[in-house]
Amino acid sequence: MLKSHNCGELRKENVGQTVTLAGWVDRRRDHGGLIFIDLRDREGIVQVAFNPEVSKSCHKVASQMRSEFVVWASGEVAKRPPGTENLKLSTGEVEVIAHDAKILNPSKTPPFYINEDVEVEENLRLKYRYLDLRRAVMRENMILRHQVVKFIRDFFDADGFIEIETPILIKSTPEGARDYLVPSRVHAGKFYALPQSPQQLKQLLMVAGMEKYYQIARCFRDEDTRADRQPEFTQLDLEMSFVEDEDILSLLERLFIALVKTIKPDTKVMESFSRFSYNDVMNQYGTDKPDLRFGLELKDLSDIAAQSSFDIFTSAVAGGGKVKGIRAPGCAAYSRKQLDDLNQLARSCGAGGLVTIALGESKGGSLDELTPDMVHSVAAKFLTLEQIKAMAERMEASTGDLLLIVAGDAKTVNISLGAMRQEIGQRLKLADPNTLAFAYIKNFPLLRKNEETGYWESEHHPFTRPWDEDESLLDTAPEKVRSKHYDMICNGFEIGGGSLRIHTATLQRKIFQLLGYTDDDIEERFGHMLEAFEYGAPPHGGIALGIDRIVMLLAGRETIREVIAFPKTQSALDLTFNAPAPVTEEQLAELHILLREEEE
Ligand code: ASP
Repeated sequence: MLKSHNCGELRKENVGQTVTLAGWVDRRRDHGGLIFIDLRDREGIVQVAFNPEVSKSCHKVASQMRSEFVVWASGEVAKRPPGTENLKLSTGEVEVIAHDAKILNPSKTPPFYINEDVEVEENLRLKYRYLDLRRAVMRENMILRHQVVKFIRDFFDADGFIEIETPILIKSTPEGARDYLVPSRVHAGKFYALPQSPQQLKQLLMVAGMEKYYQIARCFRDEDTRADRQPEFTQLDLEMSFVEDEDILSLLERLFIALVKTIKPDTKVMESFSRFSYNDVMNQYGTDKPDLRFGLELKDLSDIAAQSSFDIFTSAVAGGGKVKGIRAPGCAAYSRKQLDDLNQLARSCGAGGLVTIALGESKGGSLDELTPDMVHSVAAKFLTLEQIKAMAERMEASTGDLLLIVAGDAKTVNISLGAMRQEIGQRLKLADPNTLAFAYIKNFPLLRKNEETGYWESEHHPFTRPWDEDESLLDTAPEKVRSKHYDMICNGFEIGGGSLRIHTATLQRKIFQLLGYTDDDIEERFGHMLEAFEYGAPPHGGIALGIDRIVMLLAGRETIREVIAFPKTQSALDLTFNAPAPVTEEQLAELHILLREEEE
């Protein structure tokens, strides 16, 4: 090795030792006579002092060093003179007095600061990702990611799982996105598909008797870029035979509690994860992935609203809809503009509008103090004070709060109030950044009708097992069939999902038929699964969790791009390599591909 020690590991105990170091110049300070270099490698930074009285030639070399030069230095570890220690650095009590030094490779001036955590335009960071990754935060994110994956591997190994790699060149497996296709050179006109997940493969591994499989698996989905997604991403993929859903859920609960305790001991995590049914979570939070770090649950006000003379309320209830609300604590003094913004948000979720009721200026007072002149709302004249108080009480409001109420069909009401709850949570910073609030959502519907095509579609994927007791409804009322699917959520994100699977050919075929596949389609696309199920397939189930999202949450970052070494942009571009890129005519010809003129 060119170095005897890592920069970041030198401490008082090393004083007097001769060490050799190699790394990058993080910062250089020229104090006339003395030159100080903050030398950085992956493990941290240490100060190297170049004193012309110790070595003239070495001092000369240091005078040529600039930021991001790769340099080598050898010298003696010394205690820093009293008063010059740097408590911000773990090596801040010592410095290395250089006897010898070399520039191993110079560097151009980087396009952005590496030694400061300043905002840099993301596309520039992605183009020069190898420089971006030198920054301390990014280095920490990469190390954290490594630790998380290692912890997961050790955990599953100790629990009797085996990691099995599955192929990347396979055939289309439906997860609801478009496939990335790879043309075959050898078989003209035929294509492999990159796996949207190893779903079918892991199920076949269960048929193969592997019993407990996991994999840190790369998945590929060609989705229109929405939210924070990547065309390729990493899942913790697992599958087990002879299990009930709770076996899988409690296993992952154990994994995550241990993971957080070990890797982020200062982060709060609950000792057991709540389980919600899909219907309950939608009714309580208006979304199937609520941020549970704060309350502000949606409250049903329909019974009170129906008694009012406010047409918007009464007609919604009479039409079979709902009137529901949440409180925005201490927001009674919101300006016209702030109220308009909330109204806009409600409308963008499909609501006809938002009814706001402000409960007076003084914050936190009892509702008994409420008088008619304290109430500000367009609806005020249609509601009695008692009705307003009853609604406020149900929302656990006090004076100074703002009530946000939506009327309409139940689904729209839930969704728009869910968005409102998230918005208020963000504005008021109600979520503790130091808490991870995990939970499971269960009892999803198995199928939904595609109103355009009239066909049933899987709510998740077609291998999900329905509830045994609902199987007969597949013939009569498919929309009522509940599935054995479960999602894991954390802090407002869905971090993964899975299910117990169908393991008999008869039921699997029936589901494919309900989804509108012809017998020929079924044979062509899924014949291998149906056949496998006829050779003694055990009952099985599994789950897949997004590693990128989990690391993002643990790192306290806002996007998964921050925890992926070489991510793509929101529009699926790789800016480091400039991919996708054109290929040569010869390559296309070999692949039997003729490009079509792009239609205008
Ligand atoms: N294959 C599913 C997915 O990738 C997860 C699972 O059902 O295990 O979302």
